[in-house]
Amino acid sequence: MSTVVAAPSAQQLEKFVCIASIGHSGSTLVGMLLDQYPECTSMGEITNLHKFTAQPDMLCGCGTPVLKCPFWLDVEAELRRKTGDLSLKLGEFSRPTELKRTAFRKLPALSELLMIWGSPTAWRLGSMISPRARREREFGERAVQVYEAIAAVRGTPITVNSAGATTQMKSIYLADPTRFRAIHVIRDGRGWTCSQMRREKSSMEVAVKLFVRRHWNTELMMRSIPASQRMLVRYEDLCRDTPGTMLTISRFLDIDTQLTDFTLKKTEFHGVGGNPMRFRYDESTVQLDEKWRRDLTSADLALFEKIGGETNRRLGYTD
Ligand SMILES: [Zn+2]
Repeated sequence: MSTVVAAPSAQQLEKFVCIASIGHSGSTLVGMLLDQYPECTSMGEITNLHKFTAQPDMLCGCGTPVLKCPFWLDVEAELRRKTGDLSLKLGEFSRPTELKRTAFRKLPALSELLMIWGSPTAWRLGSMISPRARREREFGERAVQVYEAIAAVRGTPITVNSAGATTQMKSIYLADPTRFRAIHVIRDGRGWTCSQMRREKSSMEVAVKLFVRRHWNTELMMRSIPASQRMLVRYEDLCRDTPGTMLTISRFLDIDTQLTDFTLKKTEFHGVGGNPMRFRYDESTVQLDEKWRRDLTSADLALFEKIGGETNRRLGYTD
C-alpha cells in the first residue's frame, strides 16, 4: 500500500449531500449528474467502501480497480495526512456491517429511536450509553472525514454520497447537521415494484410490501431533518426534464454553474457502488424506464393498489 502523502488543498468542504432513496429509484443517476458540476464530486455509496478495498478486482465507476484508482489513492493519502495515521485504509470508513439494516425492527433499538427523534444533543448523550449508537456516531464522523478529504483532493466544495439505507443517512446528518443536505429521490411505486420483481424474481405482494415499508422508514427519517435542508426529486421529472430538474437541485445546493449538456461522462466518474448503469459507457443519455406500463398485469396493478396505492398517492403519483 502506498504511503505517498497527497498535497493538501485549500478547498474546504462547504456542504455534503446524501441522496436518500429506497434503492433503485434513480439515486445513482442523480449522483452522476451532480458529478458533472465543477462544484461537486460524487463518490457513490460510502457504505460499500470496505468491499471495494477488500477485494482487489472490485471496480471504481471509472473502470479501474478501486485499489489502483488515482482518485481513491489520493483520498486515502489525504485521510492519512489529516489523521496522522499512515497505516489507515479506506475500507475502515465504511459503515460496520453489523449496523447495516435496510429498515427498522418492529421494536426499535435505542440507537434507532435516537435517530428517529433526530436531536444531535440527544444523539451525543445516547451514544455514551448505547454501544450501537456510539458505533453509528463514529461511522457518521468518519463519513464526514471522507467528504472533507474528497473536497481537498478534488478542489470541490460539495461532496455527494448516495446514502442507501436511511439509518446511514441519519447518522451522517447527526455527525454534522449544519453542512448536511438531503436529496430524497422517489419513483412511482408501480415502476419500482416492476423492476424489483424482475431483479429479485419476487412476487408483486413481496415487492409492494417492501415498497411501503421502506418508504415509511425513509419518510420517518426525513421528517426530523429541517425542511430547508432537504428536497424531493421525482425520478420521472429528472428523466423527462433533466435540465429543469437539475436547475432546481443546483439552486437548492447554491451551485452557481448552470449546465445545459447532461450527457453522462462516465469515464470521469469515481463512484463506488450503486446502479450498474455507471459501467455502461454506451448509455450516455438519461432515459425514462417505464416498462411497468407494459409489463405489469391488471392483477399486479390491482394488488399494488390494494397494498401500496395509498403510499404511492401520498408520494404524489395520483394518475
Ligand atoms: Zn476511479
